[in-house]
Amino acid sequence: QRLKEGLDKTTKELGNKLDGLLVGYGKIDEDLYEELEEILIMSDVGYDATINALEKLKEKVKESRVEDATQVKALLKEVLIDLLTVDKSDHELNLLSDPTVILIVGVNGVGKTTTIGKLTDYCKKQKKNVLLAAGDTFRAGAIDQLEIWGNRSNTPVVKHQEGSDPAAVIFDAIQSAKAKETQVLICDTAGRLHNKKNLMNELNKIFRIVDREYSEANKEVLLVLDATTGQNAIQQAKTFGEVAPITGIVLTKLDGTAKGGIIIQIAQTLGVPVKFIGVGENIEDLQPFEAESFVNALLD
Ligand code: GDP
Repeated sequence: QRLKEGLDKTTKELGNKLDGLLVGYGKIDEDLYEELEEILIMSDVGYDATINALEKLKEKVKESRVEDATQVKALLKEVLIDLLTVDKSDHELNLLSDPTVILIVGVNGVGKTTTIGKLTDYCKKQKKNVLLAAGDTFRAGAIDQLEIWGNRSNTPVVKHQEGSDPAAVIFDAIQSAKAKETQVLICDTAGRLHNKKNLMNELNKIFRIVDREYSEANKEVLLVLDATTGQNAIQQAKTFGEVAPITGIVLTKLDGTAKGGIIIQIAQTLGVPVKFIGVGENIEDLQPFEAESFVNALLD
């Protein structure tokens, strides 16, 4: 239900327009596909992903010998679910093997800190104990903000002074996590995208430290993207994809946009699974991503 409410704006832009087109349209023809194309592009599915979706849809229509437009919706749902799914199990956060480290990357303002707060709550609900690392030592206020979330959920935060070396913070946090046998260590990082070289150096240093202590299977690198920023989110995804081994996407603020179709473009462009979506500012508004319920909420 929360998912449905959170996606309401996009549902109006995408789901309702599809219904408006398909119901009573009659026989499927080329014009129908053109109108479908326009609707998908208008909700930011993106040109390439739209063309891809329509090709797949046409195949499905042919295979299933569907002739009436009203039946197209169910087939389009299948296509979108397919485009949003990398590998079903990959969409789940890797919390199976303790201890786990989760690195949170993304530019300022996308909702990184909020996501860390929500994610902490999510992990605690899975009966995991959590430690936070204030690895964004660059942005003024970032450390305090993380501590506020930590206090809220009674979660300790490892921090150094503002301006100090983030890799040193992460190193200390790892030692502390080991000493306390912490199951999940969540690390904030700085998001200075305007200086790609610095960002790369800083992240690489952090990755090297993390890699020494945690195996591939115990590591998540989540890229946080803001759905309301449209094409900027795609650009950020590409840039971070070049500097960091991203294992999953968190797409925030889907409640704040009618162009939630961007999620399809992101999944297509990156080929990395979306793991969580943010549909509001409250703690329960971070939801594990599941393609089928997402598409159903959007197109019902
Ligand atoms: P950071 O700079 O990346 O750490 O961003 P913050 O976590 O400080 O978030 C920036 C703003 O976005 C805050 O006002 C958050 O409440 C808001 N925000 C984060 N996630 C969501 C979301 O899923 N939906 C909405 N509506 N707001 C969000």
